[in-house]
Amino acid sequence: DAALHATVERLSAQGIHSILATFTDLLGAPKGKLVPLAALPKWVREGAGFAGPSIWGTGLPRLGARSEYFGRVQPDSLRPLPFMPGVAHAVCDGYAGGEPLETCSRQVLRRQLDRLRARGWTAWVGIEPEFFLLQRRPDGGWRAGDGLDRLDKPSYDLQAIHRQRGFLDDMRTALGALGFEIEQIDHEDANGQYEINYRHDEALAAADRYQLFKLTAHAVADRHGFVFSTMPKPLANAPGSGLHFHLSLTDAEGRALMADPTAPLGLSPLGARFAAGLLHHADALAAWCAPTVNSYKRLAAGRSASGTTWAPVWKAIGDNNRTCLLRAVAGRLEWRLPDPACNVYLALAGTLAAGLSGIDLALPAPTPCADDLYDRHRAGAPLPGRLPRDLATALEALTLDAPLRRAVGEAVCEQWLTLKWAEWDAWAAAVTDWEWARYAEAP
Ligand code: GLU
Ligand code: MG
Ligand code: MG
Repeated sequence: DAALHATVERLSAQGIHSILATFTDLLGAPKGKLVPLAALPKWVREGAGFAGPSIWGTGLPRLGARSEYFGRVQPDSLRPLPFMPGVAHAVCDGYAGGEPLETCSRQVLRRQLDRLRARGWTAWVGIEPEFFLLQRRPDGGWRAGDGLDRLDKPSYDLQAIHRQRGFLDDMRTALGALGFEIEQIDHEDANGQYEINYRHDEALAAADRYQLFKLTAHAVADRHGFVFSTMPKPLANAPGSGLHFHLSLTDAEGRALMADPTAPLGLSPLGARFAAGLLHHADALAAWCAPTVNSYKRLAAGRSASGTTWAPVWKAIGDNNRTCLLRAVAGRLEWRLPDPACNVYLALAGTLAAGLSGIDLALPAPTPCADDLYDRHRAGAPLPGRLPRDLATALEALTLDAPLRRAVGEAVCEQWLTLKWAEWDAWAAAVTDWEWARYAEAP
């Protein structure tokens, strides 16, 4: 407690009066409330209380002792928020009835990291956020926010960077103040699409950081009159947004476990088995990594004006091959399935569990693919197995993948499947403009 009181005094001297105690709901949204700084020891010990049934996916009952969701503040996560003066951001772990909550996605990720730690391993993750800046049109529709929709191959476009320099510079300053080490900022391959890359981190810290990135981007975009959008595929004829994970493991001495520069793909036997686990469980992992009905419009080939979506469609691994689901670079694995609509804790927990299963089952090393898979597709040549074409197929695959569900936790899977089948059912019941245009006047 002495340390916590010292923290209160230090923050108070910096002008902090409140803590924004945050947690992530199962759908991946950061949620939270403002609590007075002075009670920090209480927020750490007992947690800030929230009505459990009012939060997506807790599975908590409406009444009784276990109905309350307690977000216990993690003191090492406290950071003054540059866009909310006087407020420090804090990450919470979910508890109910005094126990870690099995449906709290941060706890779900923690459990996978405990499994790694039991072997003396640490997981490192670089998360690459791609996103759109969108604006409402007067007619209620949407447009990509920079108004430069004439661009044909807009990757690295500098006019767009110039036009958005206010947003980008405010992002740079805010993220810097929050301890992000920015590595690059660019305009991506669709109009209004950007990517901001920052240094990798230990897995839990990396997931926490992505949530803080989203919170910051929403706040900064709003100030500039834009909507920061994590929608995977807002524009029909342009690439969508991915949220690639760059994955590596180290042992207790800090040695890289997946790398072997002399081996095929630069992967050690352990790295190759990890990769095989991801490919083996990919269909079920899609339920977490590509979790919306819109996600599957991204995971398609040849739907871009510039011809290339760079999104994964087939289950293959390649050496610096962006047409594959996995790219092996410098002894790391780039897992290209996740999109920014995912719950990053859950997607990462599932991904690590799948990699571990590949190691434990000693799955054979996957065959490297050197071909451009989009070209093979266009040429009608044989292709590796395809990823699910829609959310329903991914949810069915997760339902059938009992080992993966057990490894990640049945309780959270049950909540997830309930929420996501409801989303699928709502989508399946919707009659779209496309259907009216196509069928209403058909002869
Ligand atoms: N936007 C692409 C995707 O949906 C990725 C482009 C890239 O490799 O940066 O995954
Ligand atoms: Mg990119
Ligand atoms: Mg990438």
